[in-house]
Amino acid sequence: MKILITGGAGFIGSNLCERLLGEGNEILCMDNFFTGSKENIAEFKDNSNFETIRHDISESFNIEADFIINLACPASVPFYQKDPLKTMKDNVFGIFNVMENARRLRISVLHTSTSEVYGSPSVHPQPETYNGNVNPASIRSCYDEGKRAAETIMFDYYRTYGTDIKIARVFNTYGPKMLENDGRVVSNFIVQALKGTDLTVYGDGKQNRSFCYISDLVDGIMLLKNSKKFTGPVNLGNTYEFTIIEFAKLVLSLTNSKSKIVFKDLPKDDPVQRRPDLTLAKEKLGYNPKIDIETGLKLTIEYFKKKLRV
Ligand code: UDP
Repeated sequence: MKILITGGAGFIGSNLCERLLGEGNEILCMDNFFTGSKENIAEFKDNSNFETIRHDISESFNIEADFIINLACPASVPFYQKDPLKTMKDNVFGIFNVMENARRLRISVLHTSTSEVYGSPSVHPQPETYNGNVNPASIRSCYDEGKRAAETIMFDYYRTYGTDIKIARVFNTYGPKMLENDGRVVSNFIVQALKGTDLTVYGDGKQNRSFCYISDLVDGIMLLKNSKKFTGPVNLGNTYEFTIIEFAKLVLSLTNSKSKIVFKDLPKDDPVQRRPDLTLAKEKLGYNPKIDIETGLKLTIEYFKKKLRV
């Protein structure tokens, strides 16, 4: 199958390219390299089934493919807030461009939405039926509302033209090929611990998150891709839940680091709690994440040790 992956050089995209190439697919990897990295896809450059297309998803395109997986959008808080209007364009213009290409070719689109569509949730854990608690005027809204609009646009293509859609709501994910300066908590804490600098806990560290290892997320995306007559949206992630302070202590112990924990201001509108309800993913896709947090963190720590040469 010839698969167009937008955002294919990013953290999730490049891990997905690897899996899909391994299964014999042809990959067209589209990226504007804003947060995607050439290093992430360097290992595929001699594979005749792999092709890179430098293109910005907010500009229209016409590309022959059998299936599209849309991942194109800066996804970490500091990066998506750098240029909020561009983030909104990537989400809204981007999904229009993806859906037009798919409608013309009569092919399916799998889109990675986000747990951020739930905003700062008052229901915990979050099932897909929870409609969220999102502030449209927040500094996070360019991403949250952009992703919500993208889901709406997809469902309107589905209802208007019958275009086949599959929507995954991706919760916090970590693993090899994250950017060192990504700004997410997992990469920040590991890099800080390995460099021996202070671990920066935002707020009092009592907010919680659940973390999913990348191979489990890729499993979920593959199950959704291969599913029939299921639009989602469906949550993908892991249910291991930590307060950020507990998580900092775990990273310190797994890296044997002498770094200290320091407290910094909590970013505005930072959600207090987040954990996926995976009932639907289990029922419809047989999704069952396997990698426990210690195993996943050890693999990620090894990756960053090599990258940072420490
Ligand atoms: N966070 C932190 N220190 C950091 C980076 C993030 O304490 O160096 C916190 C952040 O405030 C949030 C949680 O960790 O409560 C997860 O942040 P991340 O940016 O990884 O993902 P989010 O779930 O906010 O999209």
